[in-house]
Amino acid sequence: MSGTEKTAFKRVLLKISGEALMGDQSYGLHPPTVERIAREVKSVHDMGVEICMVIGGGNVFRGLQGSAQGMERTTADYMGMLATVMNALAMQSALEGLGVFTRVISAIRMDEVAEPYIRRRAVRHLEKKRVCIFAAGTGNPYFTTDTAATLRANEMACEAIFKGTKVDGVYDKDPVKYPDAKRYDEVSYDEVLQKHLGVMDASAIALARDNNLPIIVFSLDEPGGFRGILAGEGTYTRVGG
Ligand code: UDP
Repeated sequence: MSGTEKTAFKRVLLKISGEALMGDQSYGLHPPTVERIAREVKSVHDMGVEICMVIGGGNVFRGLQGSAQGMERTTADYMGMLATVMNALAMQSALEGLGVFTRVISAIRMDEVAEPYIRRRAVRHLEKKRVCIFAAGTGNPYFTTDTAATLRANEMACEAIFKGTKVDGVYDKDPVKYPDAKRYDEVSYDEVLQKHLGVMDASAIALARDNNLPIIVFSLDEPGGFRGILAGEGTYTRVGG
């Protein structure tokens, strides 16, 4: 879409799960799906919006899975964090294939692969219209990439987190299982927590609430959906105060 399309947003963070990159597979990366999402990101970048991204690692490894199978929890969480780095590199490759300059910025130092996280440097990249993909979560075990997304969105002064999912918002029950499930247009952080609405984990929601950071939940499966919502169209749920 044209760079002249209007949007109220100057800087946003897009959070997607690792599973969003699997396509129809049950594990790993599906390059055409990665490219499809990269095109969605590019279309928003073309509007002049500064974009941060956090991608989960659940398509490869989750710490909780490993620890359930007897692995030491911290080690398993580090494996999960490393999985997010692979996903970030795949997304960088797809975005750069489309001509969008990106930086992968890792919370765990691995200088040959990604930049270390230095807040001021990341802000500068955004000002220069480079997409910043924040990898390795928060760098700490016992957290999730939802919390990492909320942390980075606050640090980067993003106006909102856009949480891309398989459905077009937050429902009162699972819309895949229950056809009578109702979608919220708006819902408060506290209601999400009290009703366990499953938007993000509780620590991420609390961190967003305490810093008044809106979370926009939308469908990433809808072609043009990300750009549409930034232009003020489409269906989504806004989680806010
Ligand atoms: N992880 C972690 N600390 C973080 C972020 C992630 O230990 O700050 C680990 C954790 O084991 C998690 C895994 O990385 O299960 C993958 O992240 P997540 O489950 O958030 O991925 P998603 O569900 O979004 O694909």
